[in-house]
Amino acid sequence: MNVHVARSVDEACALLADNPEAQVLAGGTDFMVEVNYRHRSPSAVVAINRVPETSGWSVERNQVEWNGGRGDDTAETIRLGATLTFAEMEDPAFVNLLPALSQAARTVGSPQIRNAGTLGGNLGTASPAGDSLPVLAALDSKVILRSAETSRQVELSDFIVGPKQTTLQPTEIIEAVLVPKVAGHSEFLKVGTRNAMVISVAGLALFARTDIARVCVGLGSVAAVPVRAVAAEDWISPRLDWENMSAPTQAELDTFASLVAQAASPIDDHRGTADYRRHAVGVMAKRALQRAFPGSVPSAH
Ligand SMILES: Cc1cc2nc3c(=O)[nH]c(=O)nc-3n(C[C@H](O)[C@H](O)[C@H](O)COP(=O)(O)OP(=O)(O)OC[C@H]3O[C@@H](n4cnc5c(N)ncnc54)[C@H](O)[C@@H]3O)c2cc1C
Repeated sequence: MNVHVARSVDEACALLADNPEAQVLAGGTDFMVEVNYRHRSPSAVVAINRVPETSGWSVERNQVEWNGGRGDDTAETIRLGATLTFAEMEDPAFVNLLPALSQAARTVGSPQIRNAGTLGGNLGTASPAGDSLPVLAALDSKVILRSAETSRQVELSDFIVGPKQTTLQPTEIIEAVLVPKVAGHSEFLKVGTRNAMVISVAGLALFARTDIARVCVGLGSVAAVPVRAVAAEDWISPRLDWENMSAPTQAELDTFASLVAQAASPIDDHRGTADYRRHAVGVMAKRALQRAFPGSVPSAH
């Protein structure tokens, strides 16, 4: 196997253009498992973990047209490099910037996996159980793809189109992911068969966005692709007390939970049943909303 080590995005793209059989290698935590099990036998790889432009994160002020009407020049965008590792997402500055993604990162595998595994690799694998994906879905993320000839920006929903299926072309790399910088409380919750080193049975990210008075919900492991619970968001957002963040009523919590569960289209598999997954996302939705709106529950009358 020929290993090409790229030192820039341009070099990585040129290597892929010159070696059409080559495959992109980031942290290798999914890739090398597939090689070891002989599910994959690449004749060449382009390693991108030493490319400076795809590392780390930055906050940019630009003209990205975010849903929610924030496409003005004061809206800020967080640029997440494709080779940003899960361990780097535990940095206190990152925790303050994007706490839900940091929470998701902390649940990934072991310290060794978090040191090597990257955001771009989570997207490249596109497993329904990828822990970053509910967060990226809730924020309407955009994926920046580069090849030697082109640079394109695609919505997450146009990038992941099935279980482990993406619209990435063989000569393209994922360069970065863009998300809006949002205000308000956020949560990532995950249910697994044990507390650590666990692949998600169901995952949920919730943003209580005070900048646009909207709750945004992303779900993982409960459909072939990451899901946005739009009907649940539309129903609960105008009913919430955004000024005082006072607690929703029990009836509101129950309806919200039921609408979030309806957004899921899970399957039965060795990790859990479809019924359990639907129940789990409902419970997580309720719990996350209660944490975001923590005031005391008004008494029924
Ligand atoms: C023991 C173990 C535990 C795990 N636990 C979890 C977990 O709890 N949660 C979870 O979500 N995942 C988990 N994983 C899966 C894995 O760690 C993640 O999916 C990780 O994000 C993969 O990133 P990577 O950099 O290692 O990708 P790689 O293995 O290098 O690549 C994965 C795929 O993406 C492609 N790719 C990578 N980067 C790019 C890019 N920039 N452009 C184009 N294509 C690219 C590769 O070609 C490959 O197809 C676990 C894996 C192991 C082995």
